[in-house]
Amino acid sequence: MIISLDKLNRRETDKIDLNFSQKIDTINYCDSTYKLTSPINVEGKISRNNKGLYLDINVDFTFLDNCSRCLDEVEVPVNYDIQGFLVKEDYDEDSFEDYDAFICNGQEVNLLDVIEQTIDFNLTAQVLCDEDCQGLCQGCGANLNKEECSCDEIANDEEIIDPRFAKLKDLFKND
Ligand SMILES: [Zn+2]
Ligand SMILES: [Zn+2]
Repeated sequence: MIISLDKLNRRETDKIDLNFSQKIDTINYCDSTYKLTSPINVEGKISRNNKGLYLDINVDFTFLDNCSRCLDEVEVPVNYDIQGFLVKEDYDEDSFEDYDAFICNGQEVNLLDVIEQTIDFNLTAQVLCDEDCQGLCQGCGANLNKEECSCDEIANDEEIIDPRFAKLKDLFKND
């Protein structure tokens, strides 16, 4: 998803319109790789203003993650706006402190890099297959959405009892 900034740099134009879909296999963020289940749709523009080159796009795609309770695969739809200046590595941070800034080499920008830098801030806190997902049994690992296990009964008998009462129970056993 590399966009050349040549025309903007040579001042042949003040604006590059971006409006495309690109099939990408995976996306990386937070040290993990996620499989995309849709193309990445990009709509917006890069324009020149008196401060520099300004990226203003909407991105839209779907990727696969795991439900944080039952670990089943879940399709996560993503749609958000990215706005910020495209700057070189040695840019003056003070003059851009009120804006987001994305570092590129000045000749071109890889929008996939920009998406990977911003996706984390634009996701819902917890991925769930369903708000009522029952998750996995902590005792036996059974997926409680799909099956019932008997850990509850055992736990009621032995584990959940307050240790102080467990001692009492032992006393009664001796009787
Ligand atoms: Zn789930
Ligand atoms: Zn269980």
